[in-house]
Amino acid sequence: MDCIFCAIMNREIPGDIVYEDERVLAFRDIMKQAPQHVLIIPKKHIESLLEAQEEDAALLGHMLLTAKKLAKELGIAETGFRAVFNTGSDGGQSVMHLHLHLLGGRSLGWPPG
Ligand code: 5GP
Ligand code: ZN
Repeated sequence: MDCIFCAIMNREIPGDIVYEDERVLAFRDIMKQAPQHVLIIPKKHIESLLEAQEEDAALLGHMLLTAKKLAKELGIAETGFRAVFNTGSDGGQSVMHLHLHLLGGRSLGWPPG
């Protein structure tokens, strides 16, 4: 399988990894859209939120709690942040390995573009 995020997870290509445990990996986005921009991925290859199943509920929850933990560690918990799953073509998803964007460090516009 040709997956860039699995390749980062397997250390086949470099990634600026900020957190890892047995279920998730977090690394800095290569084209950051905010002063802090981290991607949190499950180690299990799931293509998108659409492919997630009931059995993945705890994993999805763990991804969100990892976003909270990293927001604190990165110093954006107090000022606020956004955690988002882009899904499918209209959702702007470009990498087909589920990832939670964690963005902060500036005031983020709403609605998104
Ligand atoms: P999406 O557009 O699917 O929601 O988000 C994919 C994100 O992955 C983009 O923000 C893009 O900048 C990031 N990205 C794509 N390729 C790489 C890479 O090789 N390394 C890292 N660190 N980020 C990547
Ligand atoms: Zn993958």
